Amino acid sequence: DLPDVRGHVRFENVEFGYEADRPALRGIDLDIEPGMTVALVGHTGSGKSTIVNLLCRFYDTVKGRVLIDGIDVRDAKLDSLRSQIGIVLQDTFIFSGTIRDNIRYGRPDATDAEVEAAARSVRAHDFISQLPDGYDTEVQERGSALSMGQRQLLSFARALLADPRILILDEATASIDTETELRIQEALGTLLADRTSFIVAHRLSTIRHADLIVVLDHGVIVEQGNHDQLMKL
Ligand code: ATP
Ligand code: MG
Repeated sequence: DLPDVRGHVRFENVEFGYEADRPALRGIDLDIEPGMTVALVGHTGSGKSTIVNLLCRFYDTVKGRVLIDGIDVRDAKLDSLRSQIGIVLQDTFIFSGTIRDNIRYGRPDATDAEVEAAARSVRAHDFISQLPDGYDTEVQERGSALSMGQRQLLSFARALLADPRILILDEATASIDTETELRIQEALGTLLADRTSFIVAHRLSTIRHADLIVVLDHGVIVEQGNHDQLMKL
C-alpha cells in the first residue's frame, strides 16, 4: 500500500515498449525530489506521455523500476497509487452538470466555500461569477459555452481542490489570448506549489519556470537540467 506520499519519484534504467522489439523508452534514469516541477519536452513520439503513463502504472511490462517514495509502483495498490496522482489532461474533461460539480469531481465532499476558494486561487472565480447562475451554471459535456482557457482554469481548480501529492499536466497547445495566457501562468504557479509535478510542456514560460527540464528524443533522455544549465550547452 502507498501511505501518504511525499512525492519522491525515481526511474531506474527504465525500458518499455508498447509492442515487442519496439522500445518507446530506453535507459530512463530520473531522480525527482518532492515538490519539484519537471518539464518534459521533445518532438512528437519522443516518449513524454509514456513517461507519465508509467508513473501511473498504466502498463506493467516495464523493465527497470519506477519508484514513488522508494516503493515500486508495481507493489502499490492501484487505487492508492492513483489517489495520490492528479492528472490534468490537454483535452480538459468537462461533464454535463454544474460548474460546482465539475470542480469538486475529485473531492465530492468539498463544501461550497472550498470550491470557491480553489476557484479563486487559480483565478477562475471572476469568469464563473459572471456566468448567468455562477457556480450553479449548467455546462455541457463538450463545454462549448466555455472557452479553451476557461476550461483550463476549471480543470486547475479541480486539481487544486483534489490536492494530490503528484500532479501530471499535459499542457494545451491551443493558442489562447494573451490575458488568459497570463492568467493560466499565474494559476499554474499556485497549482504546482508544494507538489511534485510533471508537465508535458509546450510553452516557453512553463519550461523556464521548471526546476528540471528533461529533453527526450526517440525514447531516450538527451539532456536534463534547469533552464540556465541547458542554455549553456
Ligand atoms: P506527443 O508529443 O505526440 O504527445 P509523446 O512524446 O507523448 O508524443 P508517446 O506518446 O510517449 O510520445 O509515444 C512514444 C512512442 O510510443 C511513439 O513511437 C508512439 O508511436 C508509441 N506509442 C505511444 N502510445 C502507443 C500505444 N498506445 N500503442 C502503441 N504505440 C504507442
Ligand atoms: Mg504525448
